[in-house]
Amino acid sequence: MKNNLITFKLGSWYRDLLNKLENGERIPLFAHEILYNAILSKGTEKRPEGYTKYKAFETEIFGIDYVIDRIMQYFSASAQGQDIAKRILLLIGPPGSAKSTIVNMFKVILEDYTAKNPIPAIKDCPVHDNPLYAIPYSQRQELKKYGINIGDELLPCPVCQKKLQEVEWEELEIGLINFSRTRGIGIATYAPMDPNTADDSILIGNISLAKLALYKEETDPRVWSYTGVLQTGNRGLVEFVEMLKAKTEHLNILLTASQDKMIVLKNLPAMYLDIIIVGHTNQTEYEKFASRPDTEAFRDRLYIVKVPYNLDYKAEIRILRKLVHPSVPIDPLVYKALAYYTVATRLARYAEDLNTLKKLIDLMDQENKSEEAVKIRKKAIQEEWGFSGLSPRKSAELLSTLMVKYAEGLSVIDVLEGIKSEFVDAPKYKNNPENKQAYDAVISYIDEELSNYVMEAFLGTSIEEEVKSYFQNYLKNLEAYVKKTKIIDPATNEERDPDENILQTVDSALNQISTFERRKELYERIASVIASSVIRGKGFELKDELPELYEAIKRVFFKEKIKLVGGSIDVEMPLPETKGIVRDMIENLKKAGFPERSAKLVIKRLEHMFRKERK
Ligand SMILES: [Zn+2]
Repeated sequence: MKNNLITFKLGSWYRDLLNKLENGERIPLFAHEILYNAILSKGTEKRPEGYTKYKAFETEIFGIDYVIDRIMQYFSASAQGQDIAKRILLLIGPPGSAKSTIVNMFKVILEDYTAKNPIPAIKDCPVHDNPLYAIPYSQRQELKKYGINIGDELLPCPVCQKKLQEVEWEELEIGLINFSRTRGIGIATYAPMDPNTADDSILIGNISLAKLALYKEETDPRVWSYTGVLQTGNRGLVEFVEMLKAKTEHLNILLTASQDKMIVLKNLPAMYLDIIIVGHTNQTEYEKFASRPDTEAFRDRLYIVKVPYNLDYKAEIRILRKLVHPSVPIDPLVYKALAYYTVATRLARYAEDLNTLKKLIDLMDQENKSEEAVKIRKKAIQEEWGFSGLSPRKSAELLSTLMVKYAEGLSVIDVLEGIKSEFVDAPKYKNNPENKQAYDAVISYIDEELSNYVMEAFLGTSIEEEVKSYFQNYLKNLEAYVKKTKIIDPATNEERDPDENILQTVDSALNQISTFERRKELYERIASVIASSVIRGKGFELKDELPELYEAIKRVFFKEKIKLVGGSIDVEMPLPETKGIVRDMIENLKKAGFPERSAKLVIKRLEHMFRKERK
């Protein structure tokens, strides 16, 4: 095995360690400090909300980095040798929050780190004991100088203890290990099973009959199997899936394992452990557990970190993409719509109406660095938002089902319909106002997004030049209006009043009241932007310098062009005069990433809007 290719004698290893410590070099030897260092080694980033983001998780954990920060506070204190390391880390969160993903990341990070930085362990020890445990008491005092306090009580496993009766401690062989999930080194998982059949061996191993036949004596430590999860996970981490469902006897073993770092094996000396015990459970299960008086001692030993749902819809898109890979052609709004809806169900209870909810969703977007946004996200962390609403698993299920159903191309319209039937109209959610409110929010959001796409598709890219010349004309009229002068009509060469019509049209496209003050304000802003781009020596680009105005004028064009389309834009049976327009729109939407089926559905959905705009 490659792990044990390099070996040292404990005596020389120990002298080398003391030298390194003397030079200020600290090698992580204990479980909590190994994981802490592993996570830290991937880098950190300070977030405006005040917490630290740990980059080791950035490919798997989205939107809840502050939870990792809280967990890291536990590891940091534990790594410094504080008593907190004797507590069991318990992650509590709603179903489908990232609890098990977090623990899984711990395992991956441990494997990755120890592959590059192998961990010293007593060679041939069944539990890969820490070499320090084999150092005689008299020698241990020196370690205290460097803040390593392993006390007097810690001993290596019974097999190594027996070996130490035969060889001098300095002669004991030390090897290097890499943690591995598959080979059961430093990483183990316990899942609750039928409490009636699960015996203690799953945790602490058992007497092996084959070895008993070989070594004869039950008191010979070599007859034990050491295959329990607390043994295979020694030096690293043991995950307890649905921890509180474990039977009481098992929880009692855990209690001793965490508090005294020890387990008791039949007929053998006590066995010392160095493990991170981390469990997870959901809120309901925890409350049920906490209501039982006999669980108090156990609850006292817990270090609880709450893991809520993510509240950032862009992060939710990444979560959904992890859960469901697009297996059919989809349009660019499919994941966005579902992610937006999912997050909206979690935020709806904090918003009084549709507009506040949409605003809140914008503010929870972590790319939004505005003061207001940072403030509300801090509040959300403090007040523990995100413990209700839709689980990402539920949205993922819907998405998978839809992909099977619409193999020829999935449209955002199908997603909106799916959301309605699954999460709004379904009897199960009949009395769920949040799901309904979130639905209204996603409809409004997606209609805005869609009209942008359709507008682009309808107007094509040639629009830019037209917008520019429209803007020139508008500005001329605005200037004359503000300065109370006349303009020269280029056609007739005659003086006339500024065109109130064009001013009004732009006001309404900007949702601006048509007052002299507002128009003057806008004029001054435009003038100063133009002046400053002239000073910088570059041409004035409306699209870049005043995007709001650019978009507003585009909307004006959209409305005016729609007016020109006489008949209804019927996708299935277009009138002869609109046939070409519909075909172009479908082609343009396809270029924007919409499968043909979706392009048609989208145009259909916006038909009613077209009609309204024409009036
Ligand atoms: Zn051992």
